Amino acid sequence: MKEGMGKVAVGAAVIGAAAVVGVAALVVRQRMKTSGRWARAMGIVKEFEEKCGTPEGKLKQVADALTVEMHAGLASEGGSKLKMLISYVDSLPTGNEKGVFYALDLGGTNFRVLRVELGGREEGIIHQEFAEASIPPALMCGNSDALFDYIAEKLASFIDEEEQRFHQPAGRQRELGFTFSFPVMQTSINSGTLIRWTKGFSIDDAVGQDIVAELTEALRRKGVEMRVAALVNDTIGTLAGGRYTNNDVAVAVILGTGTNAAYVERAQAIPKWHGPLPQSGEMVINMEWGNFRSSHLPLTEYDHALDVESLNPGEQIFEKLTSGMYLGEILRRVLLKMAVEASFFGDVVPPKLEIPFVLRTPDMSAIHNDSSSDLRVVGSKLKDILEISNTSLKTRRVIVELCNIVATRGARLAAAGVLGVLKKMGRDSLTEGGEKTVIAMDGGLYEHYTEYRECLESTLNELIGEEAAATIVVEHSNDGSGIGAALLAASNSLYLDQ
Ligand code: ADP
Ligand code: MG
Repeated sequence: MKEGMGKVAVGAAVIGAAAVVGVAALVVRQRMKTSGRWARAMGIVKEFEEKCGTPEGKLKQVADALTVEMHAGLASEGGSKLKMLISYVDSLPTGNEKGVFYALDLGGTNFRVLRVELGGREEGIIHQEFAEASIPPALMCGNSDALFDYIAEKLASFIDEEEQRFHQPAGRQRELGFTFSFPVMQTSINSGTLIRWTKGFSIDDAVGQDIVAELTEALRRKGVEMRVAALVNDTIGTLAGGRYTNNDVAVAVILGTGTNAAYVERAQAIPKWHGPLPQSGEMVINMEWGNFRSSHLPLTEYDHALDVESLNPGEQIFEKLTSGMYLGEILRRVLLKMAVEASFFGDVVPPKLEIPFVLRTPDMSAIHNDSSSDLRVVGSKLKDILEISNTSLKTRRVIVELCNIVATRGARLAAAGVLGVLKKMGRDSLTEGGEKTVIAMDGGLYEHYTEYRECLESTLNELIGEEAAATIVVEHSNDGSGIGAALLAASNSLYLDQ
């Protein structure tokens, strides 16, 4: 019995030893497999980083290419991928504007209704108030009436709730500036037809339609008495809003869901302008720079795939590299490839990671900005959004680095864009008079993504050089686009002499 037990025990020990040897072999194999995976994942990161490279020389080529396209777009309609649209804004706010004016700001995920009371030179902006609502996703791809009815309804309830003191004097209609941030072919300061949608909107029956007529009809359907006095986009609104408080503002750049820029051009330098020369000799140009494209842009396989699968393939390439709608999505695509080809998150590809646009840019910036020693924000974002848990610190570090690669490329390219505009204006180097050039910037990406904003500003200084950088100022124009549209409604009011 005892012996027997011993035999059994010995036997078990032998089996145990064999099992230990087996487990050890497995661990070694597993480790080799894991390090093979890690190496493969790092290979993907390294290749991505190389393809995203934006050395100074490349940025200068991008800037030069943009300047060339600006000339071509101004020369003739359809002369360039850059539309260089004539805004019909030939005078910017002076500060003398007076009265109560309204603005509607549509052009992304949120839209805003505003009221501004202007008191002229002495009093400036006496009062401003706004209401914000998000656009239900269904309306972004529905029909035109549904979208404009929704907007008109919000405006109607905004006006219903306003105090008596904001009511217009008898016989005077309310006037509105409409910030509509999509490419529009203007036919006057307050009419224009939609060229195409961007930023995830896709409403077929609105393309080619007069946007002011659409809005005016919807307002009528909702019983709102309002004259649309100015049709602009967010860049022109921001330029106008910036100029109201700072006379040196000559360029506006938006970095939000999408991206665009506007600037003040000499009317004589616009060959395609056949109207009478404006008194000011100037004309604001809406560049629609989101559609810029050049062989110098550092595009990767992920960018190509994102573009092909987008609502607007082949269009808005610069926007797809630089703006808030796309940065998180680029990151998702790289992570997905690492998950599929290098089992970066383990044997199973996290199903959530396969959902397009699941990783939004605000989440990406939170990951990028995580300064905790154990990167706990990264961990919780991965868990909450992608349902990936138990990531190692090493893994999290790699993800932060990927954010840095994507954001740095975007911000540096945006800076190159600004340089291109300054070159066209002859303001990229110190001018004889040493005038200041102020660039009014706005948009949620610029405002909230700290690393992006800092990179953009330092890159611009790097590109311009120390001497000229002293005369180029970047200014955050907070919500200038809404106020700017109201200001332009004021300067294009029917009641100017009253
Ligand atoms: P829109 O461009 O839609 O008119 P905004 O200028 O407010 O509106 O920009 C919103 C965009 O800004 C969002 O779509 C997002 O891409 C970006 N954004 C907002 N908050 C952040 C953030 N914290 N970090 C990075 N990007 C952000
Ligand atoms: Mg906006």
